[in-house]
Amino acid sequence: MTFAFDNTYAQLPDRFFERLAPVPVAQPWLVKLNEALARMLGLDIEALGSPEGLAMLAGNRVPEGADPLAMAYAGHQFGNFVPQLGDGRAILLGEILDPTGERFDIHLKGSGRTPFSRNGDGRAGLGPVLREYILSEAMNALGIPTTRSLAVVATGEPVFRETPLPGAVLTRVARSHVRVGTFEYFHARQDIDALRRLADYVIARHYPEARQSDQPFRALISAVAARQAGLVVKWLGIGFIHGVMNTDNMSIAGETIDYGPCAFMDDFHPGRVYSSIDRRGRYAYGNQPRIAQWNIARLAESLLPLLDPDANKAVEVAQVAIGGFGLCFEQAYLAGFRAKLGLLEPQAGDAGLIDGLLQLMSEAGADFTNTFRYLCDAAAGATGPVRAQFGKSAAFDTWLAHWDARLTSESVRPDARAAAMRLANPAIIPRNHRVEAVLNAAVDGDLNPLDAFLQALANPWDEGHNADYYMRPPAPDEVVQKTFCGT
Ligand code: AMP
Ligand code: MG
Repeated sequence: MTFAFDNTYAQLPDRFFERLAPVPVAQPWLVKLNEALARMLGLDIEALGSPEGLAMLAGNRVPEGADPLAMAYAGHQFGNFVPQLGDGRAILLGEILDPTGERFDIHLKGSGRTPFSRNGDGRAGLGPVLREYILSEAMNALGIPTTRSLAVVATGEPVFRETPLPGAVLTRVARSHVRVGTFEYFHARQDIDALRRLADYVIARHYPEARQSDQPFRALISAVAARQAGLVVKWLGIGFIHGVMNTDNMSIAGETIDYGPCAFMDDFHPGRVYSSIDRRGRYAYGNQPRIAQWNIARLAESLLPLLDPDANKAVEVAQVAIGGFGLCFEQAYLAGFRAKLGLLEPQAGDAGLIDGLLQLMSEAGADFTNTFRYLCDAAAGATGPVRAQFGKSAAFDTWLAHWDARLTSESVRPDARAAAMRLANPAIIPRNHRVEAVLNAAVDGDLNPLDAFLQALANPWDEGHNADYYMRPPAPDEVVQKTFCGT
């Protein structure tokens, strides 16, 4: 058996989902199998690559032990509440335990229409599916909590967007697919019993320590807030812009989920937006902490009926839990950027040093990734490349002198400091222009650039083979201005 399913979500009441199988596809072929992930999950790679394995990954055969279903959820999209969304093009096949006993969802995305499809076709294009594969696997290699990509199967069927595109199904692996929007779904229906069932389920699955609290549901909100704050700090630290931080795209388990129009920034600006549909910049780079906290407030609001029988007291409890996000964020942010700057011990003035650098970067249009990477060299004495990012400006040289003085206040050998910094500042990220180029080649049938890129992205901290090529910012005619949901 390929998947030893052990399903728990399917045991929840019927109103949590619709049971149905994926819709079969015409002519599946395996584009990509993530062998490293399969091994980590204890799966049989040969079986996955066999015709029966392919049929499962395509949604053409329901594997033994699966209990396929489409999850119900709601969500705030760009601030507007939509009481019913749900898996409109995805199916949860079931859950498996990895060899260490960790539980993961096995989920097909692009697997056909469901009762939640509204006007959609239930399908996904090969380009967007491969984009999710590249970005989620890059995020994982960067040490950022994320859903992962086990396989990509082309369907042999077209999907119709602006133009016909080849269709594909992604096998997504996640710690769970419960979202903030799942809570909102039951809150909108005033289904208190379901809210309690869901909260108990999430505590048991993701936050068992909350059970020990005298207020487990408050502890749950605080724990989700802390995890989300840590996640957003990690995004900020690598210049990642999620792009659609709607509450239905915020995982309760604190993983990055829903790789739509997300992007990594080239030249730094806190207001940077790539998504073609984010016209007002709601989900801009620098807004992400504020939005994450706003989403946590929607979670807390949904849980109000469970927090206290007295509505006013419930609001007070919720406000404390929401406020916890800010504290966790501030701490994690300072810790994260201190590490990027090679600072070991906290000192007063560190926040100013960090802000000062970011300010100069945005004024100079400095490349986010390379500035921090070249700063690692500067810690070991080679300041040329990083100064070049700022056009050798006097303002940056002043900052550099402050930083240097700050470094000397800690006794660490420069080469040891540079080495530590290289583990906080990646060399290789999925730059938009490279992503676009490998996707275009892949959709035209050439998978070689994709494979080479995935290999480089698997070792983001190394300036290994071909690093210059992958570190190079886009030439003016290569700059990607807009990214698309692709749905
Ligand atoms: P997303 O923008 O991917 O987070 O999706 C938002 C909602 O639209 C979710 O309920 C999705 O299931 C649904 N959806 C997105 N694309 C499609 C599609 N092609 N067919 C059906 N439903 C879709
Ligand atoms: Mg989504």
